Amino acid sequence: TNNPVTVIGLGAMGTALAETLLANDHPVTVWNRSPEKADALVEKGATRADSVAAAVAASELVIACVLDYAALRSVLDPVAEKLRGRVLVNLTTGTPEQARSMASWATEHGIDYVDGAITAIPPMIGLPESLLLYGGSERAFDQWSSTLELFGSAKFFGADPGLPLVYDLALLGLMYEVFSGYLHAVALVTAAGQDAVSLNPLAGGWLNAVLTWLPEFAENTDSGHHPDTGSSLAMQARGMRHMVEARVAAGVNADAPAYMESLMEQAVAEGHGADGTSRLIDIIRKRG
Ligand code: NDP
Repeated sequence: TNNPVTVIGLGAMGTALAETLLANDHPVTVWNRSPEKADALVEKGATRADSVAAAVAASELVIACVLDYAALRSVLDPVAEKLRGRVLVNLTTGTPEQARSMASWATEHGIDYVDGAITAIPPMIGLPESLLLYGGSERAFDQWSSTLELFGSAKFFGADPGLPLVYDLALLGLMYEVFSGYLHAVALVTAAGQDAVSLNPLAGGWLNAVLTWLPEFAENTDSGHHPDTGSSLAMQARGMRHMVEARVAAGVNADAPAYMESLMEQAVAEGHGADGTSRLIDIIRKRG
């Protein structure tokens, strides 16, 4: 029979995790602050633990997924000694520093700790398209990777338990800035009396072209060379000025292009006007 697994936290995400384990014939013990959230899982075969301590005692692998790290500590602090010698996989989202300090807490109590970040929404759990990022105890990850892979693809980043959240936040930031760019583009187009959908045939191809430039930015950043491939920062800084003016004239917020313009102008002022876009990473890092 499959190894028993405990799931602590039965919000939308914890419920999806527990359901996936049940669907793959793992004995599953669950605990949630509001016990009624376990009802549907119990009907599907899960065991409801009456206390966190009983939940922890039921399985060598304990998976936790609650609102935030403060909630996590309030749930797990009282049972730290019960977790000793067990594996704790924490899928609660927070900051990289919170993950690292949770890992230190776990080490102090002899708990084998893996921190994870879920780059998927609950309905995607159990599908190969969902991607979960892990870091921390390699021994624990190796031991339980086939179970963790039931949730989706699993990528292990090594001993630093903060790295999964670093990458998670990097990806989320990328997504939200693309959302922001698109929505401001829609605002500009609609302010000119056009339908929003008029942008669609142009935006897709444009974004695909943009996508092809990005890997080179990363390579330039790692090598420290930022060649101009046809549009120098000095030239782009002037373009950004027009962007800012056009948005202001249309009544559309210009904070993002004004920020880009200021980065470009600083690069020019520091003697990098002939370089390409990726040179801005130096200015971004310096500003902090
Ligand atoms: P929900 O809001 O659905 O559930 C929150 C869970 O946290 C509930 O089980 C709740 O218990 C519990 N909780 C909150 N406060 C406390 C507390 N003080 N003590 C004990 N338990 C507490 O959130 P999700 O399940 O969606 O999210 C859980 C984690 O997964 C979050 O860190 C989230 O960022 C992350 N995540 C979620 C994604 C999503 O799309 N939903 C995507 C990727 C990550 P109770 O039922 O008693 O209120």
